Amino acid sequence: MRINVARRLTHRLSSWRPVNDASVNAFVCIAPPTPSAPDPGLPLNGVSVGLKDMICTTDMPTTSASGMLRDFTSPFDATVVTLLRAAGAHIAGKLNCDEFGMGSLNVHSIHGAVVNPFQAPSVAASVPWTEREKRSAGGSSGGSAAAVAAGLCDAALSTDTGGSTRLPAAYCGVVGLKPSYGLISRHGIVAFADSLDCVGIMAPTIARTKRIFDILNRHDPADPTSASHDSRAAASARAFDSWSSGVPSSLRIGVPAEYFPSELPPRIMSRVRAALARLKELGATLVPVSLPATPYALSAYYVLASAEASSNMARYSGVHYGMHVPAPAGEPPSMTAAAYARTRSVGLGSEVKKRILLGTYSLTADAFDNYFLQAQRVRRLVSEDFARVFRASAHSRDNRDAGMGGEGVDVLIHPSAMRVAPRLGEVDGSDGLDAYVQDVLTVPASLAGLPALSVPLPASGAEGSGDEDECVWPVGASVVGPWGAEEAVLAVGEMLE
Ligand code: GLN
Repeated sequence: MRINVARRLTHRLSSWRPVNDASVNAFVCIAPPTPSAPDPGLPLNGVSVGLKDMICTTDMPTTSASGMLRDFTSPFDATVVTLLRAAGAHIAGKLNCDEFGMGSLNVHSIHGAVVNPFQAPSVAASVPWTEREKRSAGGSSGGSAAAVAAGLCDAALSTDTGGSTRLPAAYCGVVGLKPSYGLISRHGIVAFADSLDCVGIMAPTIARTKRIFDILNRHDPADPTSASHDSRAAASARAFDSWSSGVPSSLRIGVPAEYFPSELPPRIMSRVRAALARLKELGATLVPVSLPATPYALSAYYVLASAEASSNMARYSGVHYGMHVPAPAGEPPSMTAAAYARTRSVGLGSEVKKRILLGTYSLTADAFDNYFLQAQRVRRLVSEDFARVFRASAHSRDNRDAGMGGEGVDVLIHPSAMRVAPRLGEVDGSDGLDAYVQDVLTVPASLAGLPALSVPLPASGAEGSGDEDECVWPVGASVVGPWGAEEAVLAVGEMLE
């Protein structure tokens, strides 16, 4: 059921701010009315949750923002959708994204780009929305971040393969959690790169993010990569052992040198510094740490994610489901490579085609050793870097003298993004390289499967020099913890709010 979402949502928004979905373009489909009222005793009763359009639903299409799935409706709900419905949540609708989750700006979508709804109060008061510059909501889960930022739903689910929850959350000024790999079920999530894909959560506050996480954080036998009860219990015991959450004076925060490159704009640097200073005032200990494999993580991510994507995208052949472009009149129907190519040429967008070519190349006999295997090695080095600095990991306990005062740290904090939301006009036709570079701060936690939370930071008094208008745009800080330490990561996030 595809309807004019804009008209339906405008009345709700008009009393609040002059933004409606027509100008934000976050929703691609709004949910049909639910037949029965939910039980008021349920934990998410009354909470409206939007879903990235890569999360399968039986009552709405799941397009993944691709021409290939324009008319696809799943025969089953994703496990996360079943859990949300059972907890009493209202599924608000499906949210725009980059095609199959590939992108950082939400400009690669058959539904069009998502516009960042953020408005600084001073600007909102003086410049009408229609006359304001349009900025990117970030990607690939731009619709999820924009819908939450504009107040179109109470929370949203996203996905995060290399930063797609944290980057748009930072650009739009909302909270975005990428949980540890394997904690939230991927059953019913359209796959991009299986060894990296996670379901993310976006909300205006940490408390609401946690409420949704608590519902979704359970083992799912339908997902072969879902973490077992035992490994979940062991991880939270380790994290508890390491830091009794809520006591800032015993908290050790690692500040990784590699995540504060000289290219970081002063307005971002100053806000993150101010946030760290606040935590220090609360009694936390700031520990400079080094994660030396970080500079190689981005290239490794793009090799591995594209390799897995090239394999996942093979299912969109035009034969089983999704778009099918028939043979031209007069030619017999066939199942040849030419027939697949006909459908795929039309059904897939340019960014997806680029990833398929890159991924297929890295898996060929000629390139395998130099690209795919090297990237796997870098992935291991990135994981080892993290294991060395966290005190909850056995590795760090074996390396007490690793230059960290004899102890590891409980979490790391760093900027979520290298810039504030860019203007849409400047990035629309971007060929990708600049967009790829924006993932540099988010991909390491993805490669290592660690929990990472982007929290919007309040504007500080001294933002550094530069364009006044730029200074008001949201900036996010990321809190990264050891695998399974969501409780600690969210508790530190709350101190930043
Ligand atoms: N921007 C990254 C990419 O394009 C990450 C995407 C994601 O996390 N889904 O691959």
